[in-house]
Amino acid sequence: MRLRPSARLRLPAQALGAGPARAAAFLRGADLGAAGERAGHAARPLARAASGGRSNPVSDTFDLVGVGFGPSNLSLAVALRERGSRLVARFLEARPAFAWHPDMMIAGSDMQVSFLKDLVSLRNPRSAFSFLSYLHAKGRLTRFINRKTFFPSREEFNDYLGWVAGQLDVCSYDRRVTAIEPVRSGGEISALRVSAESASGAREHFLARNLVLAPGGRPYWPEPFAALRGSARVLHARDYLGGVAARLRPGTRIAVIGGGQSGAEIFADLAGRPEAPRVEMILRAGAPRPSDDSPFVNEIFHPEETGRFHALPPEARERRLAEAQPTNYSVVDHDLIATMYDLLYEQSVRGEDRLALRARTSVLAAAEDADGIRLRLVGAEGETRAGYDLVILATGYRRGIDRALLGGIGDWWTGAPPARDYRLPMAAGFGPAVFVQGQSEPTHGVGDTLLSVLALRSDEIAEAIEAQGHRGFALAAE
Ligand SMILES: Cc1cc2nc3c(=O)[nH]c(=O)nc-3n(C[C@H](O)[C@H](O)[C@H](O)COP(=O)(O)OP(=O)(O)OC[C@H]3O[C@@H](n4cnc5c(N)ncnc54)[C@H](O)[C@@H]3O)c2cc1C
Repeated sequence: MRLRPSARLRLPAQALGAGPARAAAFLRGADLGAAGERAGHAARPLARAASGGRSNPVSDTFDLVGVGFGPSNLSLAVALRERGSRLVARFLEARPAFAWHPDMMIAGSDMQVSFLKDLVSLRNPRSAFSFLSYLHAKGRLTRFINRKTFFPSREEFNDYLGWVAGQLDVCSYDRRVTAIEPVRSGGEISALRVSAESASGAREHFLARNLVLAPGGRPYWPEPFAALRGSARVLHARDYLGGVAARLRPGTRIAVIGGGQSGAEIFADLAGRPEAPRVEMILRAGAPRPSDDSPFVNEIFHPEETGRFHALPPEARERRLAEAQPTNYSVVDHDLIATMYDLLYEQSVRGEDRLALRARTSVLAAAEDADGIRLRLVGAEGETRAGYDLVILATGYRRGIDRALLGGIGDWWTGAPPARDYRLPMAAGFGPAVFVQGQSEPTHGVGDTLLSVLALRSDEIAEAIEAQGHRGFALAAE
């Protein structure tokens, strides 16, 4: 994201089988205690198989259940629609309505990718679901052209994504997926039972022939802050806008940990707040580093690069990923760096010291007392201590495939990385296909977590599911 310089399937009851269901911390801290308990309830009738709480019977059977309805699975829903697919898909989304990183919708922030890399255009430039179609439908096409930019605001891109989502009746919102369990038919796993919970605690279960996991990243909480996860004085950037407002008072002392794009956006946003908080960015680098978006380097984001990258031996992939770091990690857009510099310069003209950068500095420890959060820091001049009313962790996200992500089907995963078509290799006897989106950067390249590959990746997955889906019908008929 840029910051504008001016602103800142139904199965018979006996088919329900336990398999090696395992409680796991699946997807953002959901409580899987109940899932573990359910593991022993193999042959219960459907309506009773659900354990505890206000629980519904299995609601329906789907050729495909998608976990999460961010841009990745939204793009998949569009791909299925445009292929004329007859597969019955249902996406489950924890949020109450469509929203793209809502707590980082900072005023004045722009996209970091061209609008032509929307959900569809690189696959189907004539799509009715393109950003241009959206502009046309909203009556803003000519005025958008007058702005002479490839980079819409994040607010407008979110509105575009919501406009697409609103045309596809395939998502159940307010359904946080809390468990995924294998369903046995004969000697094999023929389907998956996906359990979801609403904010009010209502539970629902969905039977799936195939699964696509696209839950995004897990906010990274550095080790020194591990004990402070419950503290009202420590926020992750993911929760920034919703979390910061109630805590801002005139002169509030705020530490922003991390010198990447999110940290820089938050720094600039706080700098302009009427409460005039005291803001320190604490970063390990010597200075905020500019992202490399130069045209030759940017070719690594071309969707056709995915196949080339996947074909490389593991060591070569690692080298390429290391090379690509300055395009996406711990870097800041040029114009935002300029904005930060201006902010610091202007305050020096006024003789103020409200904003500061603590470069070459790492957090060794963090503790909370009556006065706030105390940090033990180490920098070029040795160790120091500093106190803050609020700490904001702009420390990024962790993605990747592990047994926690897979919940109750983790033990069926062979441990091998996803195939070129994003399908996870599962043990013999496991029928449903499991695909991942946005979790396979080590094998599919640095574009995997970003928007640039969505249009083509979603079509590749749609094609693979269609092939698998029909095999699924044959399995179900046995
Ligand atoms: C602030 C910010 C700005 C960004 N800007 C850009 C940009 O300009 N260009 C770019 O290419 N990339 C950008 N990115 C990268 C970003 O990863 C992609 O833009 C995109 O959001 C990835 O889509 P996704 O669907 O894979 O993940 P997400 O957008 O994270 O969506 C995942 C969805 O899954 C839901 N979910 C998670 N767990 C569960 C569960 N257990 N049950 C049900 N639902 C669940 C979440 O609520 C969420 O809606 C940005 C990232 C951030 C954080």
